[in-house]
Amino acid sequence: MTTPVEEFIEEARAVTIDEAAERLGLKFTGRRHEHPQPCPVCSGRDTFSFNTEKNKWNCRHGGVGGQDAIGMAAHILELDVRRRAGFLEACSAVLGRDIPAGGERETDEERAARHARLEELRMRHYQEMAEREAGQNAFRDRERQKAQGIVRHAAALRTSAMCEGRFYLQQRGCGVPDDEWLRIAPDLPYWHGTDDRGQPLEIYSGAAMVAPFIDPAGQVIGCHITWIDLKAAPKFRPVLFGLTRKGVEAGRAPWRAGDRWPSRDDLDAELYEPLATKKMRGTKKGGLIPLAGAPSARRWLGAEGIENTLAFARWEDFRPDTFYFAAGDLGNMAGPADPSSRRAHPTLRKKDKNGRERAVMVPGPVPLFRDGGEPDAMVVPDHVDELVLIGDGDSEPVMTASAMVRAKARHARPGRLVPIIMPRRGTDFAAMLAGHPSAFSYDDEVKA
Ligand SMILES: [Zn+2]
Repeated sequence: MTTPVEEFIEEARAVTIDEAAERLGLKFTGRRHEHPQPCPVCSGRDTFSFNTEKNKWNCRHGGVGGQDAIGMAAHILELDVRRRAGFLEACSAVLGRDIPAGGERETDEERAARHARLEELRMRHYQEMAEREAGQNAFRDRERQKAQGIVRHAAALRTSAMCEGRFYLQQRGCGVPDDEWLRIAPDLPYWHGTDDRGQPLEIYSGAAMVAPFIDPAGQVIGCHITWIDLKAAPKFRPVLFGLTRKGVEAGRAPWRAGDRWPSRDDLDAELYEPLATKKMRGTKKGGLIPLAGAPSARRWLGAEGIENTLAFARWEDFRPDTFYFAAGDLGNMAGPADPSSRRAHPTLRKKDKNGRERAVMVPGPVPLFRDGGEPDAMVVPDHVDELVLIGDGDSEPVMTASAMVRAKARHARPGRLVPIIMPRRGTDFAAMLAGHPSAFSYDDEVKA
């Protein structure tokens, strides 16, 4: 015959991780089965995790884990399961029920001491988290100040004695705006990787076009830098290489401007990589890069990049009723996508970890709106009644089209026109831009 206590233990053993997690007040953070979070006892970011499908839990910090809910309860409640009382208390926690009569339990003093310990841990973790957050904010403030400094110290591109900026824009088919948003710096360092002592390494320094990133209040929150090299036709930007992590592991030396280019073999082996000659500093989200005109204009026109906007502005001869801007990137123009609108790419494939070819997933055309916090995308004020969005013809067309449709939906208001202008790429692409729903059903092609 089984005693009530034995029955109680058997029941506790049958409790799933899912049920126990809920009774223990753990957070269900994941979109699917995996729920990472700071360990209530060991702290640290995402050190603790449980998986409701695999019925497993794990604390990387404490180096423990397994498949039983009792062990999980013991870990986060600091119970010693080698003692009968501790074990039964853990059973009680996963069942959400008291230990039946006859079962050993913690004394009141033991319980009080354990709760005090847990409370102290909680306070310590709270403090650590607050410190970490303050550190992140301080870092962001410093980055912002650096960006403001870079903008402040650069001269107006239009009137500067340095011709690099104007020459670069003209070579790229852009108009040079009359306004003084765009700046030019004679000698801006390019940092990449670290030197022997772990200090940031300046691998190049040269002329650069500097554009401020402003928030809706007009504050400079970041800057966009384009390095220029008048000797480097046809793009007129310097060719720079960076040592990769693989390169560091292989014992290679950092590359610096003036060094010979890395060999084809080294590039193929990914020991070095070509570097982007455009960079962002500070914050970008919610802001945009002003290029010409004033934000008070009722017609706004912008692309992802500075060059695209200014090429179009030149084509329409800088309309005086228009504010020209760049969004910085597609994400900032279109904002996040509703996950349910995700689609498989009709042709692009990549291998998954099992080596199987899978369609690349494309963020969908439906915007995801989140309440509170900082804006997820550039902010277009209410007074704007025409917002012209220019697509980028060089980017991956399906991803771009989806983002442009999403941007249109995100920034739509009653009475506002939001035309999208794209370089033409064929009828399917055009149909997608028109928001034609059937253009998004690629299912048949994906299966094929
Ligand atoms: Zn832990």
